[in-house]
Amino acid sequence: MKPAAFDYHRARSRAGAVALLAELADEEPKIIAGGQSLVAMMNFRLARPGHLVDITGIDDLAGIAHDGAGLRLGALTTHRTVEKAGLGVLSDAMRWVGHLPIRTRGTVGGSIAHADATAEWCLLATLLDARVRVLGPSGTREIAAGEFFLGPFWTALEPDELIVEIAFPWPLPRAALTEYADRRGDFALVAAAVDVDRGRTVLGGVAPVPLLVESVDADEIAAGLDLRDEPGISAHYRRGLARTMVQRAVAQATSHTAGPVHTRPDVCEGAQPCVTSIGEGS
Ligand code: FAD
Repeated sequence: MKPAAFDYHRARSRAGAVALLAELADEEPKIIAGGQSLVAMMNFRLARPGHLVDITGIDDLAGIAHDGAGLRLGALTTHRTVEKAGLGVLSDAMRWVGHLPIRTRGTVGGSIAHADATAEWCLLATLLDARVRVLGPSGTREIAAGEFFLGPFWTALEPDELIVEIAFPWPLPRAALTEYADRRGDFALVAAAVDVDRGRTVLGGVAPVPLLVESVDADEIAAGLDLRDEPGISAHYRRGLARTMVQRAVAQATSHTAGPVHTRPDVCEGAQPCVTSIGEGS
């Protein structure tokens, strides 16, 4: 299937993108980044934006920066860039995102905005108390991940707002993400991300939004899930998957060298101090 007709606009700056969203507000504009979720939704006519605002030409929206305040991922940073950057659990988790071509085009900001409750970035942001920085007509604001995801494919983002970056704490804790899907590269049936330093777990695939539980006890977490039988998957099976995924994630996280991950991101090597203007490398 082909998408419904739309007009295409290429934004050259953050302010330009926000101005376009405001100017076109009555005709359902949508930002397009990597296009890995939006194009499929348009082709299936699940999304029918009147205008696409392409943000991929905004150079300062991509890249990884690291300073005393934490780790900042520009919205246009691709999954693949993070995968290669040596960022502990963030990099390790990227191998679960689709396939290489998807990771090469798909972006962190696009994933967070799309808000699939099993998406790795949504789980990681919730687990690590990330903050989503957005720019709108009245300026910038910051939204805690815990308040950002409101339901399936529904967030606290206003239609005229642009995600500019996602801020994670640094150093990262001992943490791991693992998941199960019927086929490699598919979205997970159940995913679990754990932070063993803080004793917390986030589950995907068991609730409309990433489910945060202040425990890493797999039996206790599985027993507490509110699940229903669904076509093709029973509550019993999903509960068992959740238990196993938490066990595996805890085992992986605790097998990392004791203490939080201090390794500097590759992209920051040589920079003094390690603060980069956000601008993606290779
Ligand atoms: P787009 O598709 O361009 O946009 C997605 C949504 O986000 C749109 O609503 C768009 O308007 C909005 N948006 C994009 N950027 C911004 C921004 N900066 N500010 C505000 N709104 C914005 N994802 C996973 O997490 N795990 C998987 O296992 C996985 N498997 C996949 C398998 C296949 C076959 C495919 C096609 C995709 C898969 N994906 C998976 C999705 C992929 O990770 C996408 O990259 C991601 O969901 C969206 O990122 P994008 O840059 O492509 O966003």
